Amino acid sequence: MMVRVRYAPSPTGLQHIGGVRTALFNYLFARAQGGAFVLRIEDTDQERYSEEALEDIYATFEWLGISWDEGPDRGGPYGPYFQSQRLERYHKAVRSLLDAGKAYECFCSAERLAGLRSEGARDGVVGYDRRCRNLDDEQRAAYRAEGITPVVRLKVPDNGAASFEDLLLGTVKRKYKDLSPDPIILKSDGFPTYHLANVVDDHEMEISHVLRAQEWLSSTPLHILLYEAFGYEPPRYCHLPFVTGKDGQKLSKRHGATSVVEFRKQGYLPEALTNYIALLGWSYDDSREFFTLRELEQLFSIEKLNKAPAVFDYKKLEWFNGNYIRDCSDERLFELMRPYLEAAELLPAGNASAGGATAAGESRRPGPGADESHEADVVRNAVPLVRERLKLLSEAPELLRFLLADVTGNYDAEELIPKKMDAQATEALLQAVRPVVAAMEQYDDEQLEAEFRRLAERHETKLGNVMMPLRVAITGSRTSPPLIGSLRLLGTDRALARVDAAIAKL
Ligand code: GLU
Repeated sequence: MMVRVRYAPSPTGLQHIGGVRTALFNYLFARAQGGAFVLRIEDTDQERYSEEALEDIYATFEWLGISWDEGPDRGGPYGPYFQSQRLERYHKAVRSLLDAGKAYECFCSAERLAGLRSEGARDGVVGYDRRCRNLDDEQRAAYRAEGITPVVRLKVPDNGAASFEDLLLGTVKRKYKDLSPDPIILKSDGFPTYHLANVVDDHEMEISHVLRAQEWLSSTPLHILLYEAFGYEPPRYCHLPFVTGKDGQKLSKRHGATSVVEFRKQGYLPEALTNYIALLGWSYDDSREFFTLRELEQLFSIEKLNKAPAVFDYKKLEWFNGNYIRDCSDERLFELMRPYLEAAELLPAGNASAGGATAAGESRRPGPGADESHEADVVRNAVPLVRERLKLLSEAPELLRFLLADVTGNYDAEELIPKKMDAQATEALLQAVRPVVAAMEQYDDEQLEAEFRRLAERHETKLGNVMMPLRVAITGSRTSPPLIGSLRLLGTDRALARVDAAIAKL
């Protein structure tokens, strides 16, 4: 059997971790099996449809490097891939169910249904009371004559059960009498509901496997019933484990960023995100954590999915990102940091970074060129220095500000003073540090550090107490790239001026 899988988002909001995990697993499964990956846009909810959400689907997956073989933007033999362009197929399918007596038209007013719902809530009854199930032709004609357009409902049998083998969860069985009776499959505006369109399309697009979030598990018995009513073979199902925060609750905004756009803005690399997301419910073995997308395309298998909910660990993702940043070439890391530095006005804004700085895309400028500013050269030289410290690209401006802007004296005097020391003692230390800084060109890095160490010993204090005030003097901040490298990039004159300013402040 040819493997055909799909990602079927509804364009109603930004792509979030859960959706991307579903898309990624389908993509990887298709690649590993030599199958096809389809993007289908489930846009039948006209009220919640958003153009921006559709753009976000394209942008997100382009950025992540996940592509589909068939989809609205690239066509394919099973199109159209927008459900809103497939209405006549749903109408035909519904007609076949009506003709077979498996569905019926319902003319009940919105008010009546609302009344039923509140009575139902009171009495613990769910679903429709089936009033229109047995209308005859005459009654239907009378309603039509009143100008009422019906909805179409699926008949849920009283007996029997929907049963299927989930590839991860095993046998799932649900009695029909436990389903909410007679759900709407076609709305009065002629649009299908999710259930109908999803089943018709999975069948017509010859989808072999449905890998989707466990949130949809409760809909699957109804889908099985629909397949039965149509006389279609259902696809194989695999409901992916929930993604939760550390508290075990479903991952949501309360836990932190959830949309890919937010992660992108914060300065995550696409490969860090795909690597980490691949591990949300899947593992290769007990130890290996790092995978490129190409490797995952080879290694992914349904057998290695875990049933247990996957906990989304923001710290771990950040750690992955730091690792991927350390793997970047100098030039790539420079280009990755550029939009953040431009947005912070530490680099002159380049034309291509306009949208990129806030959406934090990699700016599309060509590599080093004649148009490069002096500041760009400064940043290029500093890349090796900041690489080790950077966990998020958005931290780049703070780490590099001291080189690109004049931060001389730009801090509170308190910042200079180490714990358990006072202004006077700190000033004395900086006075002693000054000649070492002045002579730094004579030393290599090791010697320079040895000088600082000796100085600390002479003053009967820790090396940290020497470095800390110097760090604040030089960079304006207690957290900075490695100090000796920072001194070198700044150069003797500017470094001395900043030490002097610190002494004056104390
Ligand atoms: N349109 C549904 C969604 O937004 C698709 C669910 C499914 O994969 O069946 O997730």
